[in-house]
Amino acid sequence: MKTRRAVFLDRDGTLNEDTGYPADFSQIHIYPKAFTAVRLLKAAGFAAVVVTHQSGVGRGYFDEAELERLHRRFEAEFARRGAPLDAIYSCPHAADVTGEACDCAKPLPDLALRAARDLGLDLRASFMVGDKAVDVLFGRAIGAAPVLVLTGYGRAASAELAAQGVRPAHTAAGILEAAAWIIERGRPGGHGPV
Ligand SMILES: [Mg+2]
Ligand SMILES: [Zn+2]
Repeated sequence: MKTRRAVFLDRDGTLNEDTGYPADFSQIHIYPKAFTAVRLLKAAGFAAVVVTHQSGVGRGYFDEAELERLHRRFEAEFARRGAPLDAIYSCPHAADVTGEACDCAKPLPDLALRAARDLGLDLRASFMVGDKAVDVLFGRAIGAAPVLVLTGYGRAASAELAAQGVRPAHTAAGILEAAAWIIERGRPGGHGPV
């Protein structure tokens, strides 16, 4: 039965500074509050699932093996801080340079559908946190409550979404504030995800 709730987390600009196309873990600067946020979400019973565009692969800046290595280090760092991530799902494609659309780029639901299958997740009881309009649209596409964070590209995304008439379920200053809102919203007797 799919009963497990998840918080889907964008990576760059949400859990760590968006520095372009980091090829190595040494170029990753995780927001210190991200460890606390994930620790609190896990304690509240949520699966923590990272869903990330890593088009640096499709652009030829680094390959899948390097991305995999970076993500194993990323996971190890969260685990070391008592905030283990459940999984990381990536879209490695770069449709804008290759001209070939893929079926796994946000806001298409593929990454979440794979996670739901692998981890037995209830997407409608889940949340999505990210800093771009595409993250909010992805949350809507999978039936989860989308939370926009104002770190990374969040301020531009907020304006972009407003222009499109799309409202996130919530807008938070950063990942820790987003986690606090989700935990309050998701507790028994809370208002639920949507
Ligand atoms: Mg991002
Ligand atoms: Zn893709």
